[in-house]
Amino acid sequence: MSSHSIAAAHPQGDEARRLPLRSKLYCLEPLGLATAEVESATSYLSRLAIAHTVSIWSLLKREIAPSLYGPGVNLTHRVSELISTVGPAFNGENSTSRKLIAVLQSLTGRPDLNQTTMRFCRGFVSPGFLIRRKQAWCSDCLSEWKAKDRPLYSPLIWHLAAVEVCPLHGAALRTTCPTCNRWFYPLAAHSQPGYCPHCRQWLGSSENTTNPGKPGYPLERQIAQRVSDFLQNGPEALAAATASAFAGNVESFLKCSFGGNNQACARFLGVTRYTVGAWESGKQLPTLLSLADFSRRVKVAPEVLVCSHLRAIHISPGSKAVTRTGHRRLFAPRKHDLEYMRKKLEEAVTRGVFPALSLKAISAQVGCQQSTLVRRFPELAKQVKDLHRQFCANRKTVRAQQICSQIKLTVIDIHKMGIYPSMRTVRQRLPNFINMRDPLAYAAWKRALEELGLACEEQIRDAA
Ligand SMILES: [Zn+2]
Ligand SMILES: [Zn+2]
Repeated sequence: MSSHSIAAAHPQGDEARRLPLRSKLYCLEPLGLATAEVESATSYLSRLAIAHTVSIWSLLKREIAPSLYGPGVNLTHRVSELISTVGPAFNGENSTSRKLIAVLQSLTGRPDLNQTTMRFCRGFVSPGFLIRRKQAWCSDCLSEWKAKDRPLYSPLIWHLAAVEVCPLHGAALRTTCPTCNRWFYPLAAHSQPGYCPHCRQWLGSSENTTNPGKPGYPLERQIAQRVSDFLQNGPEALAAATASAFAGNVESFLKCSFGGNNQACARFLGVTRYTVGAWESGKQLPTLLSLADFSRRVKVAPEVLVCSHLRAIHISPGSKAVTRTGHRRLFAPRKHDLEYMRKKLEEAVTRGVFPALSLKAISAQVGCQQSTLVRRFPELAKQVKDLHRQFCANRKTVRAQQICSQIKLTVIDIHKMGIYPSMRTVRQRLPNFINMRDPLAYAAWKRALEELGLACEEQIRDAA
């Protein structure tokens, strides 16, 4: 019965008897609304799929992609794009993200889904360099939520390119799974917040991450804190503003603090003088990272810098002595835990040949370059390389033996059935990973025929 017919059946119009509006999909509430830990659109999609006990692939293909792309398109191709290269854009400020939110709002009946993207900063912050492509996460946050039995999700802040560390824990955000060392996109066909879509293992393992409270990334943490404040206070402040006040504020900052000296201002801000000029003229909007760094240097909140017309921005005494980090390299080089590196290398050497980890895998585990391991621990690195080389050679031999024995057994089976074991017949009965064009497989087939006293196809053709 529709809500209209129910209202007609109760002419007194009792509000309590009226059914609320129905939505096609479950009216799932996004987590962390109006806070700095607001959920991202991609995380919301994952949880929405789980709430309906379907995969993200099915949800996208059956419900979302038809509305997003309209009729007459190859949905399989489109959904493949969504769960790879296009998916991360859902969290940003662009037409794809706006369309997705409109579709989700109509399907779930929730008007507040705008908050799961960076839409609020449209016209105030540049849409470029806003969203990262790979999924990032804070292992400490995930572990804490699991311990407190809180729902697992991916906050919007983890998807922002400007944020390298967790503002709460100060730990570097991870982008590779602690178990399989692979990275992944925010949307996967079968993903679950907090778990790797490749190996399905828990991502909250605290192994290899910076200890909570360890001051490893002070600059990055300050920037992450500014971005976090922007996510909390920005939506309301920017909604109330009519246009960006950033250009005017840069102009007054340039005049008041640097007497119009563009180069000096650029040096202080760690950008080029062309960028200062483009900001001042309003031709260019600041990226989120530039805005957060500007805010950190002048100690004014990011939303105030873009919304309020400030008469003057004063630099606190001593601020000019801030060393220029440079626009090309804003972040300090990562501090390496040498003891941890040595421990991992020694473990790999002790473990021996079966299975020997490559130096590349170990460097990914400890979060450094292979060359760093070679430079710091030349002897151990050499042993690891030798072991891995030996392991690869052994693996190749075992694989060759398996292929030969599989082909031989197949040839005998076919022959027993009274059929000539031609290459085509044998290939049809072999698993896909065996390629009969491989010289090794071909030689094994010929050898098996000879053992059975059969001529191979080439000899038969030659005889004919
Ligand atoms: Zn955290
Ligand atoms: Zn994994």
